[in-house]
Amino acid sequence: MKRKVVGYHTDAENHWVAELECGHGQHVRNDPPWTERPWVTTEEGRESRLGEELNCVRCDEFARKVAEAVIKACRESLVAAYEDGGTSGLCAEGRWEMALDSLRSINLSKVIC
Ligand SMILES: [Zn+2]
Repeated sequence: MKRKVVGYHTDAENHWVAELECGHGQHVRNDPPWTERPWVTTEEGRESRLGEELNCVRCDEFARKVAEAVIKACRESLVAAYEDGGTSGLCAEGRWEMALDSLRSINLSKVIC
């Protein structure tokens, strides 16, 4: 997920970390020949990159976990409602409608916390 750089600091090993608008940090090391970012070694260089976007791996991981939790909750709701519909003697179409209606009552606050 793309996030704007809003500042910088160094970590305990003196490597530069970009501070992202989401509150997460992302290392922006200058470690030639593996990683060449000479701009990070000067204040002007760092300032010139403020506002640029970096991919935030932590936001990606969080979004993936939320999506997985929502899919799991939907699957559980669909299966439970479909089985309840069967127990109640509904036809296949009725069970399907009951399963779909069950999605409206999922409490997302509970799912993503
Ligand atoms: Zn983030």
